[in-house]
Amino acid sequence: MPGCQSDPNGVLFAVSRQTVLIVEDDSVQRALLSAALVTEYDVLTAQNGAEALKMAARADLVLLDAGLPDMDGVDVCRSFKKEKDLADIPVVFLTARDSSGDQVTGLEAGAIDYLLKPINLEVLKARVKTYVQLKHQRDALTRLATVDGLTGIANRRSFDNALSREWKRLARTEQPLCVILMDVDHFKQYNDTYGHGLGDECLKRVARTAADTIKRPADLVARYGGEEFVVLLPETDLEGAKVAAEAVRLAISGLKIPHKASSAADHVTVSLGVAQGAPSEGTDHHTLLEAADQQLYKAKKDGRNRFMAAKVE
Ligand SMILES: [Mg+2]
Repeated sequence: MPGCQSDPNGVLFAVSRQTVLIVEDDSVQRALLSAALVTEYDVLTAQNGAEALKMAARADLVLLDAGLPDMDGVDVCRSFKKEKDLADIPVVFLTARDSSGDQVTGLEAGAIDYLLKPINLEVLKARVKTYVQLKHQRDALTRLATVDGLTGIANRRSFDNALSREWKRLARTEQPLCVILMDVDHFKQYNDTYGHGLGDECLKRVARTAADTIKRPADLVARYGGEEFVVLLPETDLEGAKVAAEAVRLAISGLKIPHKASSAADHVTVSLGVAQGAPSEGTDHHTLLEAADQQLYKAKKDGRNRFMAAKVE
């Protein structure tokens, strides 16, 4: 998602300038187009289709010359649309006035628009602005759909997608997958004592701390709902997941957020349920979450501010 990047835990942050990739083999044209856009955008240039395919992932918009030395521009565009990471990047074709066939095939190949050569630079700037804004808005919507509004970490939908994806992926190699369910101890009493404003602040700090503690790129920390959080640990066995759960528990307890209504401590603590699943063909991930939930229940029953762990048999 160029224009908007995420850290390993899916926390997104805005990147102010957007990037336009100019793919043009004529050096004079390339320089003209770059000069027209460089004050408002980060401009990348490519001289042929092969370079364009390598660089496109960094772009928010691609200006694509129809006639390139190594590949037809239409084929470059088709290649973008086949790649999952590139398919959503808008492509504007740059075509000669006398080649209306290029314009039609360009649009059929998935280009959003075309501009006729010689390029009117004012028209170019206006079109680029429109398409970059559209891309930005779409990225923002995608972000809203995957990020929890309060805490900024991944939401439950992202987690559900990641769990099902990782389960299928690990089933092929039969590697373990662990889940940690985590609940803020006596959070209702926290809200009743300190108010919902501080309750929200508490959840934000708990989320941030958990996300900062779980550092491997493939791991995911998400808000599961209310005061419940979840951690996904692919290719991790139960011993590894216990270490992670204890690290998160200690880090959150270490915040020393006062909680005088808690029976577990005089500050905010969490209880955690850890479960290891064994993904394999023909199984599904629901038993893993159920097992983590059972362990969480045990941890609470046992006095809170602790984790309990089990393997799914
Ligand atoms: Mg050309």
